[in-house]
Order: sequence, then C-alpha cells, then structure tokens
Amino acid sequence: MNGYIHSIETLGTVDGPGLRYVVFTSGCPLRCLYCHNPDTWKLNDGKVMTSEEILEDYEKYRPFLKNGGLSITGGEPLVQLDFIIDLFEKAKKRNIHTCLDTSGASFTKDGDRYAKFKKLAKYTDLVMLDIKHIDKDLYKKLTGGDLSETLDFLDFLSKKTNCNIWIRHVIVKGYTYDTTSLYRLGYHIGQYKNISSLDVLPYHSMGVNKYEKLGLEYKLKDMKPMTKESAIKARTIIEAGMRDRLLKHEARY
Ligand code: SF4
Repeated sequence: MNGYIHSIETLGTVDGPGLRYVVFTSGCPLRCLYCHNPDTWKLNDGKVMTSEEILEDYEKYRPFLKNGGLSITGGEPLVQLDFIIDLFEKAKKRNIHTCLDTSGASFTKDGDRYAKFKKLAKYTDLVMLDIKHIDKDLYKKLTGGDLSETLDFLDFLSKKTNCNIWIRHVIVKGYTYDTTSLYRLGYHIGQYKNISSLDVLPYHSMGVNKYEKLGLEYKLKDMKPMTKESAIKARTIIEAGMRDRLLKHEARY
C-alpha cells in the first residue's frame, strides 16, 4: 500500500526506545502554534512509498536498530490510517518493534474507522501520545483541534488494547505552563494503568525559519524557549496530579 512520506530519519534517538528508523508522514489536521514541522502539514504531499519499500530500506539498518525499531510520526500519522496499519502489520511479521508517535487527532469511536483503530492497535507495541493541553478551550486555541479525540484515544488504548503508552507534553509559557493545567493533566492520566513513561518537553523555537520559507506567520515569535528546569518543575506538578488520582484523593484544582 502507498503512503505519502515527508522524510525518513534512519537512526533517530528521540522517537521511542533505542535507535530507531523514523518515518515522517505527510498531513496533519492540527495547527499547533509551536509546531516545528509545518512543512509536514499538507495532505497527499511528499514522496509516495509503499510499505514494502520502507521495510526493505529498514533492513539495511537492522543491525543498528536491534534495541530500537520502527517509529512513525509526522505530521499526524493517523490521517493515513490504512497505510500505517499495513506498514505496522508487515513490520510485525518481520519482528520489528513498532512505535506510533501521535496527537490522537482524528480518532473516532464510531463505525468502520473505529474497527481500523482496533486493527492498528494489534500491530502497535508503543504509542507516544502527545496531549497538548488538558482544557478543551485552550486545546482548541493552541492546536485548532478537538481535545476529545486525544482523550478518547487514550481511553481506548488503555481499556481496549495491550499497547504500551508514553505520554508527551510540551510546556509553553502562557498556554500550558501553569499549576492548574499541569495538575489537571496529571490527575486525568493518573486513572490509567498502562502508562509507562511521561516526557515533559520544554518549548523551543527551532523550525521558525520553515515558516518564513513557507510564507506562513509564526504566531509565537516573541516567545522565549523554555528551560529544562521549567520542564522538571512541570513534571513534578503533573506527577502530583497522577499520585492524587492513584490514591483516590479529591482533585486539588
Ligand atoms: S500535531 Fe504535530 S505536526 Fe501537527 S501541527 Fe501539531 S506539532 Fe505540528
């Protein structure tokens, strides 16, 4: 099956455990204000490749990827759902560890598409789920999308699949970096048992040049990058929310 591919990184280190072969797919329904890959947004754009072509290329790097595997990111991979099901199904036949890096955007609990998500989950070892905000109005403001798709996807992954889940969250001053939002995020995810990791990432401004090249406005141009220390502080607040949920305490915020 064909997919639209923006680019491939053969020895990636940040999209899952170990060294990984990372496929960046084209197309994303969100417009996150801090997105550093606006060049992946367009649907049906980039190089057309088949699953087999990608996996044959993977084999060239396999000796280096033995503690890692195949990751798919974007863009938003879920907009090419049929293609990623095909790619992951074939990857599992080759005994390759599969990781989906996603925002959950476009997930639905209804109809044929829901059946496809169940199929995808069968072939997915790890989902790195980026929860961009825990408040639906602020999520909309930050991404242009619908938070319920992300949270429903998390609920589905936790209750209906055996996928391992890592949560990712980017802290951005004035948007996500406040005690109430961080605590509420932790309190929400604290109800799920198969979350094995939490990555809190500081906002950075890499990728701004891409906006200029594409003739797009970068709306956070006056925003300063956030520090690792801020991310550590944010993490402790999220963990406090998770702990309270786990211990069945009332939410503090
Ligand atoms: S989901 Fe990812 S690719 Fe899409 S706009 Fe947000 S940061 Fe960019």
